[in-house]
Amino acid sequence: MSSILETLRVCFPTPLLAFFLCLMIVTVCLIGDAMLTKAALVNLHGTYSVPMLRAFVDSSTHAAVGFLVWAMVENASLLTDYSKWGNCIVAAVLAASVDVDHFLAAGSFRLEKALHLEKRPPFHNTSLVLLGTLICVFLSKWRPKMWVFTLMFLSSWLSHHIRDANHRGLWIAPFGHTPLFSTQFYILCILVLAVCVRISVVFLRSSASSISSENFVRTV
Ligand SMILES: [Zn+2]
Repeated sequence: MSSILETLRVCFPTPLLAFFLCLMIVTVCLIGDAMLTKAALVNLHGTYSVPMLRAFVDSSTHAAVGFLVWAMVENASLLTDYSKWGNCIVAAVLAASVDVDHFLAAGSFRLEKALHLEKRPPFHNTSLVLLGTLICVFLSKWRPKMWVFTLMFLSSWLSHHIRDANHRGLWIAPFGHTPLFSTQFYILCILVLAVCVRISVVFLRSSASSISSENFVRTV
């Protein structure tokens, strides 16, 4: 028990900031979900279609959650090293990019086609994320700086999948789908993900002190 508390103390030297970021993640998830529900009811008199508004709200929420999860990972260094904000922006873009597969699977940029696919598109397969992470871990043997991207990819794409699981469950091919995640459960999973990735980063950074740059933006 004391070793868990010691790990948390080392990984979260500014508990107030960690608490604030957790609160932000919860708030963004709840507001995003509420706006999605509202968007379905809004009649914008044809200015924008409801599917377009829903897609915009959904992608923005995924991006904001990806941003905040990585902000949790960078933690106190955000206050002293402003270049870390660049990593958060990359994480936000990665989190939102998952939905590109709707258009790839539809073979069209038309939203109506992209939103009415017969089956879930490939980037929403959680097994693929785990496989991609393993490949990145393997590649980081030759390119050590790759670990920043590996964890960023994992946290961004997994946060997107976990949030989507609120509507459709997690798709773990070839085993199928999990039951739908309740709102409380998916938010808890995202918080646990953020904490776990933060702990991994702290240990990786302490064991890889020879790595000169820890910023994905600077690394590539
Ligand atoms: Zn999605």
